[in-house]
Amino acid sequence: MVNTGTGSDQAFEEEGIEPEDIKYIIETHLDIDHTGKAPLFPKATFFIQRREMAFQASYWSKLGHSPDLAWFVSNLDRVEFIDGDMELFPGIKCVLASAHTDGHQHVEVQTDAGKAILVGDTVYDIPLQLEEKAGPGVTLPGGNCFNRARLLDELFKLKWELQKGSMILPTHTYEPFDRYKLGKKRSDKRTAMKAFHRSTGRPSEPFGCA
Ligand SMILES: [Zn+2]
Repeated sequence: MVNTGTGSDQAFEEEGIEPEDIKYIIETHLDIDHTGKAPLFPKATFFIQRREMAFQASYWSKLGHSPDLAWFVSNLDRVEFIDGDMELFPGIKCVLASAHTDGHQHVEVQTDAGKAILVGDTVYDIPLQLEEKAGPGVTLPGGNCFNRARLLDELFKLKWELQKGSMILPTHTYEPFDRYKLGKKRSDKRTAMKAFHRSTGRPSEPFGCA
């Protein structure tokens, strides 16, 4: 599983999965909206970039972005730290992509349909950030990033991945459900983005600082 989120358990119930069934969880980063339900998975081992812990402990958590950091610290026996890129299992690779946070990582998965990249919070909106389909009246996605220059590097790489046919799967948009015909979605992009900005209370920024 990638990220534990803060949403309802409806998807688990529908799939007939119990939280105890989950053995491995990769956290793209430790912001609360990605990790909030981590304590509900009693048998899972968590894979986190080592520098993400350092970053959250030294900087981000001071701003209130990671109230769950204490939970991870007190459950270190269930945390495996990664330094940089690492293939955890055949076809499932963690790739350090610091920008949104210092230890943010992507998860690359080799599927029958090609490479899928779970990009966490590097991308909020594929058309605007990777296809540059902005126009008059379009509101650019806002948010935050730790390192804007690194973010631009990561977006450049992901633009090429998109052009090569890789599936790009961001966290805070439902647009890929239609783009890649991924099945049932529980909301739409506009609702998801609005809910996200409400939940973070962060002001929108001009292009790219996602
Ligand atoms: Zn985040």
